Amino acid sequence: MFGRAPKKSDNTKYYEVLGVPKTASQDNLKKAYRKAAMMNHPDKGGDPEKFKELAQAYEVLSDPEKREIYDQYGEDALKKGMGSGGGGGHDPFDIFQSFFGGGSSRVHRQRRGEDVIHPLKVSLEDLYNGTSKKLSLGRNVLCKKCKGKGSKSGASMTCSGCQGSGMKISIRHLGPSMIQQMQQPCNECKGTGESISNRDRCTQCKGEKVVQEKKVLDVVVEKGMQNGQKITLTGEADEAPDTVTGDTVFVIQQKEHPKFKRKGDDLFVEHKLSLTEALCGFQFVLTHLDGRSLVIKSNRGEVIKPDQYKGIGDEGMPMHQRPFMKGTLYVHFTVDFPDSLNPEQVKALEAILPPRPVVKMTPKEMDECEETTLHDVNIEEEMRRKKAQAEQEADDEDMHGGAQRVQCAQQ
Ligand SMILES: [Zn+2]
Ligand SMILES: [Zn+2]
Repeated sequence: MFGRAPKKSDNTKYYEVLGVPKTASQDNLKKAYRKAAMMNHPDKGGDPEKFKELAQAYEVLSDPEKREIYDQYGEDALKKGMGSGGGGGHDPFDIFQSFFGGGSSRVHRQRRGEDVIHPLKVSLEDLYNGTSKKLSLGRNVLCKKCKGKGSKSGASMTCSGCQGSGMKISIRHLGPSMIQQMQQPCNECKGTGESISNRDRCTQCKGEKVVQEKKVLDVVVEKGMQNGQKITLTGEADEAPDTVTGDTVFVIQQKEHPKFKRKGDDLFVEHKLSLTEALCGFQFVLTHLDGRSLVIKSNRGEVIKPDQYKGIGDEGMPMHQRPFMKGTLYVHFTVDFPDSLNPEQVKALEAILPPRPVVKMTPKEMDECEETTLHDVNIEEEMRRKKAQAEQEADDEDMHGGAQRVQCAQQ
């Protein structure tokens, strides 16, 4: 098979890595690997480089045929493809898993791509009636030409920047005897641990393994969906090699409506009545979110007071997934009182409204009472000003009192 015997290279490193003598039995090898691999597992914060080395060493030494080649010719011989199964080495996590069993390592290894989240502005009309929106979005998909390998031959080489681990460890000196180790994804291979030679690079994706694709997504907004609710399109996020594709998620952002306010499944509208309407009755037409015209009118003889609410059943928002059930439509009334009345209007009103309460005063009281004048106030403004003033005075008091206490302490 070989024209000439391969050159002898280092054949002690694997034993050193596992910390066993060259004469170690299979049992000793197993024990040494088990202990070291548990300690250095990256899931437990171990160094991935070390973990990989251990797996590599154990893989070779635990196979009698490979061990013999290694003992005779060293590491290079194995890399050149001697021995069964060829060189290149297996995934260190696979070796770990075959040793310890269990699936957690494998699950961990199958990376999940990130979900892509988009806000989706939706009008209240669309949330009432339901709609579907066609959205054109760009995303990465695996290159069809190279089936996501990035190379023409389908082969890839171990990245020389990180020896295939995908991570690089940099050491920062913080002081004379202090160093900080930092682990970062390898910049040369973008953390994949692989590199592709220029000549072998796929012409379609330039070795990136993925290409951009435009796709029109049909996003169904169901009746009664709420602000902040998510619409998930499974597996529509960016594709990447060896990765479970994440989801594209649309988050509903309900647009403000000029007329209707929404609280859960209920709707609120404001309606201003003239004084005459409030006292004598009213009727108006409200166009609903689905275009229907609702006639809203007072009951016979009913008086509407300022700030009063009235409700209309089953005219709120449809409930999500139960669209035949609807919330309540609330009408909030304000009453537009006239600013003043002329003497004739006063006389006419007095004639029809209930009489004023009679104020009884003794002649003595009549003599002693004082005239007052009512002036207009903006009560909120005045209260705010007075509160600020009181707080200011309290602060001054505190400072004054504090100074006194200090003086006392000094005496
Ligand atoms: Zn790399
Ligand atoms: Zn390609």
